[in-house]
Amino acid sequence: MNKGTIICIDDDRLILNSLRDQLQRIIEDAYEIEVAESGGEALELLSELEADRIKIPLVICDQNLPDMGGDALLSYVQIQYPKTRKILLTGDANLDAIIHAINSANLYRYIAKPWDETDLGLTVKAALQSYWQDEQLIEQNKTLRAVNLQLHAEIDERQLTQQKLQDSEQRLESILNSLDDVVWSAAIDGYQLLYLNPAAEEVHGYSVSSFLSNPNLWTEVVHPADRHQIVHFFDHLLASGSQSIEYRILRPDGEIRWLKNRGHVTTDDRGTPIRLDGIIYDITEQKRAQAQLLHDAFHDELTGLPNRNLLMERIAQSLKRQHRIPDYQFALLFIDLDRFKIINDSLGHIVGDQLLVAIANLLENCVRTSDTVARLGGDEFTILLDGIQGVEDATQVAERILFTLQKPFQVGDHSVFTGSSIGIAYNSVQYEDATLLLRDADIAMYRAKAMGKGCFVVFSPEMHAQTLNLLKLERDLRSAIDREEFVLFYQPIIDLQTGGLCDVEVLVRWQHPDRGLILPSEFIPVAEETGLIVEIGKWVLQAACHQLRSYQQQFFAAQTLRISVNLSSEQLQDPNFIHEVDRILAESRLEGHYLKLELTETMLMAHEEKHIQTLQQLRDRNIQISLDDFGTGYSSLSYLYRFPLDTLKIDRSFVSRMMSQPQDAEIVNTIISLARTMNMDVVAEGIETEAEVSHLIQLGCDRGQGYLFSRPMSQQQLEKCLRERQGQLEFCHHP
Ligand code: C2E
Ligand code: MG
Ligand code: MG
Repeated sequence: MNKGTIICIDDDRLILNSLRDQLQRIIEDAYEIEVAESGGEALELLSELEADRIKIPLVICDQNLPDMGGDALLSYVQIQYPKTRKILLTGDANLDAIIHAINSANLYRYIAKPWDETDLGLTVKAALQSYWQDEQLIEQNKTLRAVNLQLHAEIDERQLTQQKLQDSEQRLESILNSLDDVVWSAAIDGYQLLYLNPAAEEVHGYSVSSFLSNPNLWTEVVHPADRHQIVHFFDHLLASGSQSIEYRILRPDGEIRWLKNRGHVTTDDRGTPIRLDGIIYDITEQKRAQAQLLHDAFHDELTGLPNRNLLMERIAQSLKRQHRIPDYQFALLFIDLDRFKIINDSLGHIVGDQLLVAIANLLENCVRTSDTVARLGGDEFTILLDGIQGVEDATQVAERILFTLQKPFQVGDHSVFTGSSIGIAYNSVQYEDATLLLRDADIAMYRAKAMGKGCFVVFSPEMHAQTLNLLKLERDLRSAIDREEFVLFYQPIIDLQTGGLCDVEVLVRWQHPDRGLILPSEFIPVAEETGLIVEIGKWVLQAACHQLRSYQQQFFAAQTLRISVNLSSEQLQDPNFIHEVDRILAESRLEGHYLKLELTETMLMAHEEKHIQTLQQLRDRNIQISLDDFGTGYSSLSYLYRFPLDTLKIDRSFVSRMMSQPQDAEIVNTIISLARTMNMDVVAEGIETEAEVSHLIQLGCDRGQGYLFSRPMSQQQLEKCLRERQGQLEFCHHP
């Protein structure tokens, strides 16, 4: 291996050759040996070697060269190659030159000519060894420096990473601290709590440190009823990898909160579990909203009472209990307020709502807490009486309710009374289905209404058949409109003084294909309830107007005749009503003053302003208005003044009792004088005896109507009457 080149410089060829040979022997093949005979040649050689990056461990130079001193050359070598070992050969001992060389060329040694070969050998070896020692040191230094640099770089990097770690830890901590949710970590062994963020205190009401110091607090805070859930939470979590549970906690301030705890197992790179981590969410609000939703689904918003859903649920429970316990009895009361619609329409929804709330409270006070008072909607309430002794218990409650609801209520500024009708379904039958029990109570309630309201009826199976009939009636009624099965009957209204015919009241009948002629009392209520009355009423008005117009053209007696047509509330509220009246008058070419319309007090009580306007529009068309069945409604006198009315018709009930009951006679008397003061006509309905006529005349009643003069008659009968009385107005008392 070549370790470098040794340069020998001497102007004496012989010496140079011998030097090289000796060196060759000393160093064997380890080094190249180059020779130069002058300083210039030596410098050239040096720059060549340098260009080839060849190491020069040793230069041996003669003191006296032809072109320069050996010491000067070595001084130059020292500047260029400080590491190179330099040996000076001296012929005579020029001490100055040697000292110069030692100082300026860092001379390694000088050798006096002629030299001893062994001496040269030792010196050269020592010089080379010293060179390589230096070289090694330099290398070591270099390595050291490099290692040092790397170390520094590593330290810098580590510091940077540490900073980054610190930053991210700080960031994480600030996130954890600002979280509303609780973040936790627990050890795998023994599940010891390792970390909790500050939210834990906010949520649980206990400090983080108290959790860390008391390992049992974790379960102690859990609501006793839910504690069983949390006990094996960690075991399950560890077994499954992730786990989520919901439970309640009991805070030290007594507040109960709902929490959702979601944990997972954290593993190392090899999948070995190292920790349990998790988040706890406070889901109290969510639970509350859910509970509210659930409550809303089963309760009436206005009164807070159970609604239909909950009622059905409770009935279903009672039915189940009945199957299990043979002598268990229950009953369902279906309560409908008799006058709620009138109150609601006339006093407004706010008063209506207040009334419903007041009634809800009252009903709850009428029963035991084990009973279920529910509101089905509108003015319909039900009470499920649970575990009663017999039907008498149910009827007693019904009586109590009827009595309570008869009394006036104070709602805001208003004193109102509503009255109620109650249907009772009792478990005498084995009901299979909750809806059937409700249906039967409903049917019984309808029966109570039909019986004149303000009473209760216990359901019996026959009622069901009757209800089915009613449904059939409704179906038939719909087709009756299409098939035009209605006919008009006419009842004369007589001038009591002269016996002359004034008006005829138009009374509708239904010519049923199977059942024959059906009276309005049987189908008008159904028609009103189903809204079919609007169509029927339109037909009646149209047919009556055309009929009268045609009589006017045929019979002299019909010239001054007026028709009085009954209206239902639904018709008056129909937004097209006036438009329809106009159309019918135009089509029949009947003048408005031949038409009178009969309304009832209750019809007017709701939507007062609207009705005043409608009645005024009718008056603008010269159509007159009668108040039918007067005295049975609830209108106050001041109320009447506001409407443009022409006639009061005294209800038949007063007329028929007037001769026997002084109280009714007094009412008739009052109505007559009222009509007179208000400048209205008065017609007495339902006159059946001469005595009644005389009495009415005495009281100053203008007109009357009743079986005494004529029952309602068919179109043919009326035509016959009109024909026979051509030219004369007087009407026979006995047709
Ligand atoms: P209303 O308007 O009070 O008609 C008088 C009712 O009393 C008629 O019964 C008539 O037959 C009956 N009546 C008349 N005089 C006597 C009498 O001396 N003694 C007795 N006991 N009754 C007498 P009807 O025809 O059965 O009508 C009953 C109710 O049906 C009417 O009472 C009226 O409110 C309603 N109605 C009749 N036709 C129509 C109609 O076209 N549209 C509407 N909306 N209702 C009608
Ligand atoms: Mg009438
Ligand atoms: Mg009447």
